[in-house]
Amino acid sequence: MHNCPKCQQNNIVKAGIIKERQRFLCKDCNYYFTVKKLGKKIDDYYVTKALQLYLEGLSYREIERIIGVSHVSISSWIKKYNISRPPVSEFHTSYKIFKQNELIDYMKVEDNLKGSGFIITEFGDKYMVIKWERFKKP
Ligand SMILES: [Zn+2]
Repeated sequence: MHNCPKCQQNNIVKAGIIKERQRFLCKDCNYYFTVKKLGKKIDDYYVTKALQLYLEGLSYREIERIIGVSHVSISSWIKKYNISRPPVSEFHTSYKIFKQNELIDYMKVEDNLKGSGFIITEFGDKYMVIKWERFKKP
């Protein structure tokens, strides 16, 4: 395990990947830092997360932007695990990323919940809400 380079404590959590480097957040002093390149061995956590987002209807570029892993890697995982998604015509997907207090505020508003299924997934030190909304009939 790593120690925070700023305060030397080891109360740290994973907080996403930046340019293929694992990023950490120190919970004691709120300092973000990265460690050496991940190389070929990218944490299974991010592979699973990328495949999950792909199945939820996000594009390679969107997943790249969110997770910080190149779309080339994402595309290779999708081939490797032979993932295919069914065509979606009636629904479109949207997502938002919240801090915990923002998530609670969002959930308090019933209109945000009604008429769309959604999932919440942990994302680094934040939470991601993925919504499924039916395309409105004209
Ligand atoms: Zn620290």
